Amino acid sequence: MTQPLLNARPESHLFYQTRARRPVLAEARDLHIWDVEGKRYLDGSSGAMVSNIGHSHPHVLAAMRAQMDKSTFGYRLHFETDPSERLAAKTAALMPEGMEKVFFVSGGSEAVESALKIARQYALATGQGSRWKVISRQPSYHGCTLGALAITGYGPLADPFAPMMRVMPKIPAPRAYLDGLDADDPATGAHYAAMLEAEIIAQGADSVLAFIVEPIGGASTGALVPPAGYMQAVREICTRHGVLLIHDEVMCGGGRTGAFLGGDHWGVAPDIIALSKGFGAGYAPLGAMIAHDRIVNPVLDQGGFAHGFTYAGNPLACAAGLAVLEVIEAEGLTANAARIGALLKSRLEGLMDRFPFIGDVRGKGLLLAFELVADRQTMDPLPAELNAYVELVELAYAEGLIIYARRTRDGRAGDHFLVCPPMTATETHVDEIIDKLTAALSAFAPQALR
Ligand code: PLP
Repeated sequence: MTQPLLNARPESHLFYQTRARRPVLAEARDLHIWDVEGKRYLDGSSGAMVSNIGHSHPHVLAAMRAQMDKSTFGYRLHFETDPSERLAAKTAALMPEGMEKVFFVSGGSEAVESALKIARQYALATGQGSRWKVISRQPSYHGCTLGALAITGYGPLADPFAPMMRVMPKIPAPRAYLDGLDADDPATGAHYAAMLEAEIIAQGADSVLAFIVEPIGGASTGALVPPAGYMQAVREICTRHGVLLIHDEVMCGGGRTGAFLGGDHWGVAPDIIALSKGFGAGYAPLGAMIAHDRIVNPVLDQGGFAHGFTYAGNPLACAAGLAVLEVIEAEGLTANAARIGALLKSRLEGLMDRFPFIGDVRGKGLLLAFELVADRQTMDPLPAELNAYVELVELAYAEGLIIYARRTRDGRAGDHFLVCPPMTATETHVDEIIDKLTAALSAFAPQALR
């Protein structure tokens, strides 16, 4: 029985972060979404950097339908499933050498929790029980569950829950553009990496379990690309102090940056990887934690991994994930993300001539962002009262363009906006994004230039 689509109603029983309501989605195809009133939107942020291969891809829908006819659930303690075996093998083949074992979850926070827990169990299994601290960066975002929040450097989400968790040490994210440093100079990378070593020593190296880092920043830093040499130096410091290196690839993994993993750009292999978002690409709640055999084997040899989610390895989700990887491969979408991303980035940089309140454009591939500032020389943020991160998103939404914004609110960074369309984007889509964004920025200019 087909129910008619309802439009958003104030008396709805739904709630998320706020009472704000959005139009009801009617249909989504590739880069476009239509609401029930027939208005068309270009999904310029792939939702929350999720829909990497565009919406309603026929290959994925067909794979899901075929799987649905066989089974939609097989409990992991009772059965293996063909899609989960295949997806694990295909995923492992995309990981750095020696990372052969894949642990499925249903989202990014679960992937990060799983990474923290296997790290701790590895320490216990190898006689390093004194290690439990996980160093992360400020700002950062690693998820909304209490374990992931303890390592998240984003006050508005983490602070209310501080008494309920063991808040972990943070080091500054390498925001060279705010510190007036040259990101291409290896001395800059060494400068920020030295902060990690200093923190490990200050905490006592034998108490430090891991360092977690987004190779290319997501919403918290607005597509921050680390300075030259940073990722390699961090790897070396972790190895030297026996600290595990966790790459949070939840947002930057999956091909969006022009390489399957963000860490691939620097040829750096971590010990543990968290994946989600583009891995299920919006077709199914899916994520994975992948660890090197030298981490997994001691844990499995000594009583097993004390962790697991009911929906882990769900065959329908895994069939979707497998089809997503097939599409990325068959359509050369990682290379397309690099090519179209370079074009989109240069077009965003072009907007800086017209709009002096754009302070910075950054990112790699199709993980791109721009930041609004009061003054491009000092990089002072726009006044918080302007609420730019809300206002500009609304103006773009009115134009039919979806972008994703954050104000880091740590007293330094301004409002930043992620422009991250699906990896299927073409030159025509780039034109549409820039036209709509230009209209939104023009409408916002009187406030920004006041
Ligand atoms: N890690 C990173 C880098 C993220 O960007 C996110 C979500 O935005 C998460 C973890 C948490 O993922 P999820 O919202 O799927 O739990």
